[in-house]
Amino acid sequence: MEAEYYCSLELGFDQSDISPDSFEVIQGLKSHGYDGLLVGGCVRDLILGLKPKDFDVATDALPHQVCKIFPRSRIIGRRFKIVHVRQRGRRYMDYIEVTTYRANPESSGSWMSRIFPKSRKRRKALDGENIYGMREEDVVRRDFTINSLYYDPVEEQVIDYLGGIQDIQQRQLRMIGNPQQRFLEDPARMIRAIRFKAKLGFDLEHEMEEEIQQHTAWVEELNSSRLYDEVIKFFNQGAAEKSWDQIFDTPLGEMLFSHIASDRKHGNSARFANFVRRALRNTDRRVRKGLPVIDSFFIAVVFWNEYQKSLLRYTGKGLRENDAHDSAVSDCLVKRPKLLVIPLRVRDIVHEIWRMQARMERRDKRDIEPIMENRRFRAAYDFLALRSTVGEIGSACTKWWAEIQGTNAKKRASMIDQLPDSKQARSKRRRRKNRSGRQHGRPPETQSQDIM
Ligand code: ATP
Ligand code: MG
Repeated sequence: MEAEYYCSLELGFDQSDISPDSFEVIQGLKSHGYDGLLVGGCVRDLILGLKPKDFDVATDALPHQVCKIFPRSRIIGRRFKIVHVRQRGRRYMDYIEVTTYRANPESSGSWMSRIFPKSRKRRKALDGENIYGMREEDVVRRDFTINSLYYDPVEEQVIDYLGGIQDIQQRQLRMIGNPQQRFLEDPARMIRAIRFKAKLGFDLEHEMEEEIQQHTAWVEELNSSRLYDEVIKFFNQGAAEKSWDQIFDTPLGEMLFSHIASDRKHGNSARFANFVRRALRNTDRRVRKGLPVIDSFFIAVVFWNEYQKSLLRYTGKGLRENDAHDSAVSDCLVKRPKLLVIPLRVRDIVHEIWRMQARMERRDKRDIEPIMENRRFRAAYDFLALRSTVGEIGSACTKWWAEIQGTNAKKRASMIDQLPDSKQARSKRRRRKNRSGRQHGRPPETQSQDIM
């Protein structure tokens, strides 16, 4: 297979945009006689003038050989082995992902027998599902041509086997190989195609578009955590609003969020649609500013109307507030979603964000400090503020919470003190008064004065 070579200057990107850690890893591999190249999304993004999210390295060294070169590295992944290499002085989470060139099982025979003539070594190289190969084999296993480029930062050269550069320039998302076959092999590629279309604003080749419309149901075959991870990437890469519309242009929207699809179809609940859109826009703004975004917030937003409906049903049946809340959370995050399995860690956070809404609206004197000490308070406050922007609650409540966060201890105590007593405190006092026949404390205030 012939490759085209392009120099980085010719493509208009700057060597200084490359992470120094990945550069060092590549130099380390090369100094031991191995290949070391940047690959995939980072090369694509550099050419597009975008800031790459991560810098992945591809090599012909086997995982254990990579570990030998870099002592602060470890092999991860059971199915596919990947090496995480950490540079000295870096935090635990700062690592470069190094992947050995892989091949398709059918094409690997010749390469294996050339490199590992002895069967014992060959078994080692096959190593479960890890079928290693040459760069020419690795490139055709990738998903889209725009993700198939390698970059050698030492030679400052982009290596293009499949016309990826032309596709980037023409803003075309083209599958490597036959779209139907590649989607069948791994349906996550459909989700990825929709994501890149939204994120990069590229056109999908016609055949891929048709295949996605016809065979979306294949995503049901995906392992649930992989599906969740791919879906969440729609919302944390700065193109959440666009992605939202794109997924509802395909059957994937209905499969993942059936409650929203039916609202969209029947034009129901314009306020909720507006609520979701504002949240997505905010998320995109945060990503652009480099601020963190949490997937739990997104899940809390998109299932909020379902939760409210369930809550009403349960309280209507006479369940107490906490029990109704627990049942409603379980209904909309566990029982109802057919395809999207929401991880427990996310469910726990969503549970807290939602639970705090009623408490924050109520502003019970004794509950203010516990609410503010809750580690999800900031997210719950943002959620409350979002609800207020679409008129779901009055702005005075959000303003009060904004004010109390930005004030000193003395003012805070006085703000809390000025709050009316809760219903419980009032009835306790009434009971005491009846018993003693004496009245003490402030005259009762109605809670409704305070609720918007
Ligand atoms: P992003 O900017 O979202 O990280 P990316 O293209 O880097 O985009 P990754 O999930 O980080 O996406 O994957 C890195 C590379 O691995 C891709 O560019 C692609 O070459 C390859 N790849 C990832 N997922 C698949 C897949 N399902 N099938 C084939 N190749 C894949
Ligand atoms: Mg990537």
